[in-house]
Amino acid sequence: MAELAYLNGTFLPLAQAMVSVEDRGFQFGDGVYEVVRTYGGRPFELHAHLERLAASAEAIRLSLPEGGLPLLAALVQEGTRRAEFPETKVYIQVTRGSAPRDHAFPPQGRSTLVMTFRHMRSLDPALKSQGVDVICMEDPRWARCDIKSLNLLGNVLARQRAIEAGAFEALFIRGGAVTEGSVSNVVAVRQGTLFTAPLGPAILAGVTRQRVLDLARKEGIPVRGEALTVSQLRSADEVFLTGTTIEVLPVVHVDGAPIGNGTPGPVTGLLARCFDSMTRA
Ligand code: PMP
Repeated sequence: MAELAYLNGTFLPLAQAMVSVEDRGFQFGDGVYEVVRTYGGRPFELHAHLERLAASAEAIRLSLPEGGLPLLAALVQEGTRRAEFPETKVYIQVTRGSAPRDHAFPPQGRSTLVMTFRHMRSLDPALKSQGVDVICMEDPRWARCDIKSLNLLGNVLARQRAIEAGAFEALFIRGGAVTEGSVSNVVAVRQGTLFTAPLGPAILAGVTRQRVLDLARKEGIPVRGEALTVSQLRSADEVFLTGTTIEVLPVVHVDGAPIGNGTPGPVTGLLARCFDSMTRA
């Protein structure tokens, strides 16, 4: 068991993996990424993550390395096997490669492909059972939050602001609507119906969000792709976050005000259990 990297054709110990200072990922954030985790040693929703990576790459006119998604899928499997962790967190990053610094695309060049394989530890169970607090803030990010690009400065500053406020997550507000979190999607429950921001440029199309909405429909819970205002969110019966590493995480305070009675609600609990059963299967 050792933290492992894959870099442009070679698996090597993570600490030894180096890219050039001229890499455009480093200089411009000119690249895209994904985070995939395993359950029972098997990458969860690998296909959906790789499809999203391909969509992100296409949106920034970046060619994926030769071999495309089948190669990436094989490398994820191979790295996970080699790393030998009970559960693995796989990070995949593709950049427009290394070239003398110039904003325009390099005339020719090879993309840089990096993967890292680390031990995936479960979230503190107390966060799941007790729920977490979130804050709201104006979304300072660009107009294409649907692209999973390396430009995460807005997300970084938001998450730090949340931590410094004693909260777990920061939710973004755009045009008066609650869109998503800095590392998660957000769903509210109002009178038995789920509300979450619709797919579009304001949010990342979360893989977990989609799976949880599918599970809700199967349970007969109505789902509406409609963003809520902050005051509608605050007066929701329940709120929860979704994401690859946080799964289904109840929110119990928004900007210090309790959601419902300030404890995780029954719909969130049901969906968290359904999600657990699915990942265990
Ligand atoms: N939105 C943002 C901004 C994120 O960083 C993430 C985590 N990748 C999500 C939503 C949730 O996406 P997923 O369920 O695919 O992990």
